[in-house]
Amino acid sequence: MLETDYLVIGSGLAGLYFALRASEHGRVLVATKRAPDDANTTWAQGGVAGVLDPADRMEAHIEDTLRVGDGICHPDTVEACVREAPAHILRLANELGVAFDRDAEGHFELGREGGHTARRIVHAKDSTGWAIQEALLARVSERGDRIKLLPNHPPRPEYR
Ligand SMILES: Cc1cc2nc3c(=O)[nH]c(=O)nc-3n(C[C@H](O)[C@H](O)[C@H](O)COP(=O)(O)OP(=O)(O)OC[C@H]3O[C@@H](n4cnc5c(N)ncnc54)[C@H](O)[C@@H]3O)c2cc1C
Repeated sequence: MLETDYLVIGSGLAGLYFALRASEHGRVLVATKRAPDDANTTWAQGGVAGVLDPADRMEAHIEDTLRVGDGICHPDTVEACVREAPAHILRLANELGVAFDRDAEGHFELGREGGHTARRIVHAKDSTGWAIQEALLARVSERGDRIKLLPNHPPRPEYR
């Protein structure tokens, strides 16, 4: 029998990021249906958006997201994501070791994509998701004393 304080289903960005946070408070079990890197996160290419340029504004990112969302985005959710994004991006880069592209002075090389009206996309060439997944899996393996990863644990057939 397995015992844990936190059970996480899935080993993509959300699951691994939560697992690392939760491991500061107890034992974590991450069960995932296939290989640890078999996640949409691994395939994400373009990058992650956040207000990191001092010339950019949170309000502009919120407006851009709501406009391109064409009425289906919940404004409170958009605002929370936009306002929290920079802190999480900085944590991914500076604490968890995600190798986002930087210029010669060490600043993020911010891209501009889609409906964004400012440069606010951090990226790792065109394999950003892989860079995130690789770094998080490395940090999780360093926390082997607190985080146990269980690959190849699909749902029971009746739930597939
Ligand atoms: C081709 C592509 C390009 C993308 N480009 C971008 C981009 O440029 N920028 C951007 O922000 N987003 C992009 N995305 C979206 C982004 O990848 C996802 O929003 C993000 O990775 C979701 O992370 P997650 O942890 O929630 O889910 P996932 O990374 O999908 O992780 C889910 C995990 O749960 C596991 N799982 C699922 N069901 C079960 C189950 N029943 N039992 C056990 N385990 C289960 C999976 O195996 C996986 O490990 C892209 C996605 C794709 C596919």
